[in-house]
Amino acid sequence: MDYDVLILGGGIVGCAVSYELSKYNLNIALIEKDYDIADDVALIDSSIVYDGLECEDTLLSKLELMGNKIMPELASKFNIFFKKKGYLLLADSRKSEEKLVKMYDTALNRGIENIYLLNNSKDIYNLEPSLNKNIRKAIYSKNTAVISPYDLAISYGEIAFDNGVNFKLGEEVLDIKNISKGFRVITNKNKFTCNMVVNTTPRESYRIDKENKFNKKKKYLKYFLLEENSSKAYKNIISVMGENDEKIYTIPTKENGMLIVLKNNRKISNEEGLRKIKYFIKNVSEKNIIPFYESTFYDDFLIIDDSLIDKGYIKIFGKHYGQVTMTPAITTIVCETIVSNLNCVLKKDFIDKRREIYKFRDLLNIDRQNIINLNKKYGKIICYCKKITEGEIIDSIRRPLGARTIEGIRRRTNATFGNCKGSQCLSKVASILAREINKDMTDILKDSKDSNIILGRIKEFDEM
Ligand SMILES: Cc1cc2nc3c(=O)[nH]c(=O)nc-3n(C[C@H](O)[C@H](O)[C@H](O)COP(=O)(O)OP(=O)(O)OC[C@H]3O[C@@H](n4cnc5c(N)ncnc54)[C@H](O)[C@@H]3O)c2cc1C
Repeated sequence: MDYDVLILGGGIVGCAVSYELSKYNLNIALIEKDYDIADDVALIDSSIVYDGLECEDTLLSKLELMGNKIMPELASKFNIFFKKKGYLLLADSRKSEEKLVKMYDTALNRGIENIYLLNNSKDIYNLEPSLNKNIRKAIYSKNTAVISPYDLAISYGEIAFDNGVNFKLGEEVLDIKNISKGFRVITNKNKFTCNMVVNTTPRESYRIDKENKFNKKKKYLKYFLLEENSSKAYKNIISVMGENDEKIYTIPTKENGMLIVLKNNRKISNEEGLRKIKYFIKNVSEKNIIPFYESTFYDDFLIIDDSLIDKGYIKIFGKHYGQVTMTPAITTIVCETIVSNLNCVLKKDFIDKRREIYKFRDLLNIDRQNIINLNKKYGKIICYCKKITEGEIIDSIRRPLGARTIEGIRRRTNATFGNCKGSQCLSKVASILAREINKDMTDILKDSKDSNIILGRIKEFDEM
């Protein structure tokens, strides 16, 4: 066999499984079709750590609560951004008030602690004075937090890499076949044999899979960003339950701004989105809110399918709004099954630590001076909005599983993601990447295949 375990997909779940299994004496590879891990993990570097309160499904709620409890220790071990934030779930109408009370009772029955039903507008406003509406009912949770999803996923991947997991990036799985003992995984570049497969590629279907019943309940998401250090940013994570499953929620960003997400059953315009937001946030000006992105999403759906575990196949499929939170819990369950299946033992030389990272903007002046003395490149700012230095950009490329695309650098350093959205630093970042990986500027990709950021040299145009 080429490998004991093949992990398909290098999203946060695939990376976490590879980290957990790299603790054992197993020969493991992870196959990812994109050029980087954690490509799809989040839009901004801030995700909510939920507590299971809103999950309709009891098992998923338990996974969220379990993940919520593991997360603080994990964040401290990986030395990544993690901040406790209260969660206010607001009801917007009589109908949603009834739903909210039921939700509260269900949560108590599920054993979720530290949640409170607020029946009084004054209590709600004391918790969040920037709210604009006369809301009479809310649930307040003290369990929730925000975390850096990029750092979490990349830490999992880097540590797994340092402990011997073979990452095959830019390689697409085409099919999986049963063989007499184990599997043959066919990619666009290779054929591998292995004893076990953990498939974390959502919505892919291979010959081995039974029919996948995907959720068809499509939602439309619209994202707006409230600028950094805004006095209008909420102190808590806010979620508003509207009519017909419509929802508005806010995620505080690391720099005291706020991502505002509108979830609707239909596509809405920017103007309608802004109207809805202004209805909730007191005196906010349109100038401070940037329409940021829109996408579709299939709601509340995630399955861990181990029906073929006797053959050695586990599939985790679907997408869920709380999947970052659930990841440590999913990983624990999946890995326990694999370890008992393969009868393997813990490695003696496992290193449970991510290599050091210097984030210039977070350092004290004395530490900044020390690091500049060691490496002058840490004294040269490239991204002025986020204060990211050339030293950090080079490190993000040279690290284990280093960045190979502009988005990869952004996920690791935040460069190009300030208020100017890269208009001042993008070309400098691209030329550092080109120099470090010894490629032409015209070969530099934004993200996936064929996403070249420069099409050609102006001199090479045939005509104007
Ligand atoms: C709008 C939105 C907001 C969210 N907010 C939060 C939040 O605040 N808190 C929270 O806990 N969670 C949140 N989530 C959930 C979370 O961000 C994602 O659902 C999660 O990152 C999914 O991880 P994954 O590893 O399962 O899947 P993916 O990230 O999709 O990873 C799967 C990987 O498989 C690769 N792949 C696919 N096909 C192939 C193939 N054939 N061969 C090789 N590789 C392949 C893909 O390129 C991808 O990298 C949110 C999700 C959404 C959509």
